[in-house]
This record gives sequence, C-alpha cells and structure tokens, in this order.
Amino acid sequence: MPYTVKGAIARAEGAEVEIVDVVVPDPGPGDVIVDVQACGVCHTDLSYRDGGINDEFPFLLGHEAAGRVSAVGEGVTHVEVGDYVVLNWRAVCGECRACKRGDLKYCFATHNASRKMTLTDGTELTPALGIGAFIEKTIVHERQCTKVDEQAAPEVAGLLGCGVMAGIGAAINTGEVKRGESVAVIGCGGVGNAAIAGAKLAGASTIIALDVVDAKLEGAKEFGATDTVNTKDLSEEEVVAAVQGLTGGFGADVVIDAVGRPETYRQAFYARDLAGRVVLVGVPHPKAEITLPFLDVFGRGGSLKSSWYGDCLPERDFPMLVDLYLQGRLPLDRFVTETISADQIEAAFGKIHDGTVLRSVVKY
Ligand SMILES: [Zn+2]
Ligand SMILES: [Zn+2]
Repeated sequence: MPYTVKGAIARAEGAEVEIVDVVVPDPGPGDVIVDVQACGVCHTDLSYRDGGINDEFPFLLGHEAAGRVSAVGEGVTHVEVGDYVVLNWRAVCGECRACKRGDLKYCFATHNASRKMTLTDGTELTPALGIGAFIEKTIVHERQCTKVDEQAAPEVAGLLGCGVMAGIGAAINTGEVKRGESVAVIGCGGVGNAAIAGAKLAGASTIIALDVVDAKLEGAKEFGATDTVNTKDLSEEEVVAAVQGLTGGFGADVVIDAVGRPETYRQAFYARDLAGRVVLVGVPHPKAEITLPFLDVFGRGGSLKSSWYGDCLPERDFPMLVDLYLQGRLPLDRFVTETISADQIEAAFGKIHDGTVLRSVVKY
C-alpha cells in the first residue's frame, strides 16, 4: 500500500516552498522506506528551488537526513526494518569504471530508489540529490542508508549526510591533512567550520580561519581555529601576507576554499606554502571564471584538488564520525543552530546567508 504523507516541494523556479501531500510508493527491489526523523536545510536545497541545479521541477527538497527504516523491498540485505540510518547520495555501485579501479569515492553510477514519489495527481517529483527528505517517509535505495550508533540524535547524525561531511572530508580525505600541518580555511559557514573540525581531528597544529564576519570567526574558534583573519577590508596580497605571517612566513600546507569564488580561490592559491595543497569545496557559480598566471600554476607546484562530497565513503566515514562525536572528539552538535518544523523551511532559507545560522534542522 503506497503512503500519502506531507512533503516540502519547490514547484517552480523561485516559488516559495509548499507543504503538500506526496505519494510514496511501496518499495521496489532494493528499495527501502525510511521514516525521516530530522533533515537539515542545506544551501543545495535553495539552489534547487532557485533553478541553479537543473529545471526538473517540481523538486522534493531535503537530503541531510537521519531516520529509521520502516519497510524494505525484495532482495534488501543491507538494512532491515528498525535500523537507525543516515541517508547518503553516494551509494556506490561497485561496477562502474571508477569502482572497478578502486576509486569508489568517484563512483559514476550511484544507486537511487527504483520508484518515484509523486504528487496526488501523479506528477513525478525529482528528489533533491536523489533523496528528498523533507517528508515524513521517503523511498531510497538500500545502499543510500548507512547504519550509525543510535545514541547520536537524528538532528546531529543527519548532518553527516551532506554539508558537514563535505567539510570534514575536504580536510581529512581530499586535503589529507596530517599531524603538525598548518591549514587555512576560507569561509566559516557550516562547511568551512566542518573543515576546521576535520583539520583539528587530523592533528593540524595551526588552523587559520578566514571570513569577512567577526561573529563567524568567533564561532570558528569553537570548532578548532587557532587563529582568525577578518579579510573584509584586505587586498589579496594582505590576505596572503596574513596567512604567511601565521605560518613562519611560508603559507599554509593546506588551504581549503569553502566559498568558491574566483577571489577566494586566488587567495587560497597564493596563501599556501610552496608545493602545498589547495582544496576547493565551495561550489562556484556556473558563470564564474578564474585567471591565474600560468607560470605560477607550474612554479608553485603542489596540488589543486576539488572535493566532491568530501571524497567520502558513507559506509566508512559516517559511523566513524558518529563514534568520534559520541566520544567527545568532534563537536557535531554545534552545527545545529536551531530545530524547526517543516513549515519554517522557507524562513530557514532566508537565514542561510545571514551568518548566524550554521544549520536549521527540521524535526519530524
Ligand atoms: Zn561505481
Ligand atoms: Zn547538501
């Protein structure tokens, strides 16, 4: 029997979020139904609504979620009814060219549910990032569910499903930060602060937070920043000089750009030590372009990497990070600024850029 439950959709570009009846089909082979307990409001949901991802409206928004498996389809072995899970959008296939060469984090054929959720008139919904979790029950592929320790509250654990994992992974997976290294992080929102927490977890001894808002720099200290730089009135040269001044005159071993603008990427490029690493985790605007002196790209060496979803493997990383949180070694709960109800998602979108909210999380 299909379920009819309330879900948050974006019907058209720029249209306000609506709470409507959504029909969730019975799980097909390999599918599971998850009763969503909490789902964070991510910038990507706003991008879907604003037409910045694609135009496959209407979208069922929400993708940073935790909940409990309530039904399973034929052949499901990965989870069972009652399991407490965090949802992910990297259910690796094991068969594509990336998986076959062992680069599972680049899997190009990740699994999604075999059946579509619809409006009551039969209109198919496009679930955000193949999940769609601003809803009481959602349908996903079994491999989109990762079991984690029940002791972590859903509003905390669910955040690993996207932005927080992206930031932590940018430091520990993509940047491969090592003990004693220096790390600079540009942009101290949710993803940037997660990168700071990741750098601390990895043992970085100097962690420099850069932002244009003093309050966000203060917040960054709670996640592990050892130094802060307000870049609001600084030129590119002054930003670079500030990072060099805090790293023995050399620049940071790893610079993580959690903003993704040409100017912040140039800051990252020049604020790293010779042969250092730049990690881009902030998503650039589709029309943005960057110019760099080609000889500097060669002469400064090192590596320029992009971090997709923190290069995470959910089955490896989610349970480990939840365990570290429960041991008091990773302040995951500090990312939850407020818990809200589903009818406050639109208001939460308005707070994404105001600098006071890391994450608003809808509780079900
Ligand atoms: Zn694959
Ligand atoms: Zn997200």
